[in-house]
Amino acid sequence: MASYYNENTVLFLNGEFVKAVDAKMDLYSQSLHYGYSVFEGIRSYKTDDGATKIFKATEHFDRFKISAEAINLPYTYNTQSLIESTYQLLALNNLGDAYIRPVVYAPANMSFTQNTESFVFIQAWEMGPFLGDKRIRVMTSSFQRPNPKGFKIHAKAAGHYVNSIMASQEAKAAGYDEALLLDMHDHVAEAPGANVFFEKDGTLYTPSLGNILPGITRATVIELCALHGIPVVETSFGIDAIKGADAAFFCGTAAEVIGLESIDDVPFIKNWDDTASKKIQSAYQKLVRTNS
Ligand code: PMP
Repeated sequence: MASYYNENTVLFLNGEFVKAVDAKMDLYSQSLHYGYSVFEGIRSYKTDDGATKIFKATEHFDRFKISAEAINLPYTYNTQSLIESTYQLLALNNLGDAYIRPVVYAPANMSFTQNTESFVFIQAWEMGPFLGDKRIRVMTSSFQRPNPKGFKIHAKAAGHYVNSIMASQEAKAAGYDEALLLDMHDHVAEAPGANVFFEKDGTLYTPSLGNILPGITRATVIELCALHGIPVVETSFGIDAIKGADAAFFCGTAAEVIGLESIDDVPFIKNWDDTASKKIQSAYQKLVRTNS
């Protein structure tokens, strides 16, 4: 198992910095029993000028609030002060390239009732830079993404991730690197922890919002497409539209922009280095390390 902390690691817990080994949470929490909590996944980067920058910090902590409110978790925190606490946390742990994980969780409550209080923690651990041009083999999952009529799918709620875990484990057990999930209409939705784009004749296509997590990397990719004059279309499409396209990639805070080699063993046609997707991958890498 990976090691996320040691005896010196500090985390942020309800307004205080405490040692990870001393931090406690209530095992009677409604969050633990029912997956009723929300979280974020954020990266910080050491930028070109040696500073540490939390990439899209405001967007992530704003989504944190939206997620909590979407599932009725009381949210009394403020984006700016959480960002400041996160910078302090990075400094205390001497972190530059890091993954940051804030969580809002519920108190002890074995019923399904709404709570009058909630709690927050933020953890961070080292996460190295992107490892280049590895391309992954993907399988269409037998699991669908959660139905938006059953879940607040735009919320990054912990319970949704049982679906992600099942899909990812299924793909790996079948010898693939990752899964791609469809929605309840058999439209392509997203990966267990990333959004998806494919490329055809120089245009990028990605599923519309509605049945997917509104990824911050997805939004960044769309911005980068505008900057680089690459047309991008948000629409619905089935798995056959993406299979055998020129190229495709997953994008997410942790995954960054990662090219796909194949879906269900059907390879993408174009040489990765000749694609618009590759241009976006390079532009993203540049952007995260620019201190603007
Ligand atoms: N979809 C899912 C299901 C995810 O878990 C993630 C990772 N947060 C994403 C998409 C990508 O979102 P972001 O770019 O904001 O990290």
